[in-house]
Amino acid sequence: MNKKGHVLNAALLAIGLGYLLEPAGTEVTFAKIIEIGVPVVLGALFPDVDTAFGRHRKTLHNLPILAGFLAFPYFFGNLEYVWIGILTHYVLDVAGSKRGIALFYPVWKKEFGLPIGVTVSSKRADLVTVVVTGAELVLAGLIIYRIPQLGLELGRQAMGL
Ligand SMILES: [Zn+2]
Repeated sequence: MNKKGHVLNAALLAIGLGYLLEPAGTEVTFAKIIEIGVPVVLGALFPDVDTAFGRHRKTLHNLPILAGFLAFPYFFGNLEYVWIGILTHYVLDVAGSKRGIALFYPVWKKEFGLPIGVTVSSKRADLVTVVVTGAELVLAGLIIYRIPQLGLELGRQAMGL
């Protein structure tokens, strides 16, 4: 996807995540959207820096880069949520565009993609971006609301409660 697609994806994702985490729809929700949205949009723009530095869809489009951004807040206490932007950029490139990304670069240079994507210049690129974002939010909703309950339920059953 191009920069417009990545910004659209990240902004919609941040709005959705803001409502999932703070559903009240008050200024608390708005503050959460800003808190998540700024780092997520910045993170979503980062991987395509490899169009100028390195090899595009390889150098900054791989799992070691994502792991680095996931670990960064634990070591240095900042850049929280940037990894979400990196991850959603990868998801959009893999699922939404024709050309895949080299997830295991530099070990394995093969680019992985799903056959459902469209070309970056396609008229349907925005629609695909919105659909991919919707799927991400459904998954995020399940992770936020369903998986903790499932864990609690399994824990209760394990203890015989
Ligand atoms: Zn990209």
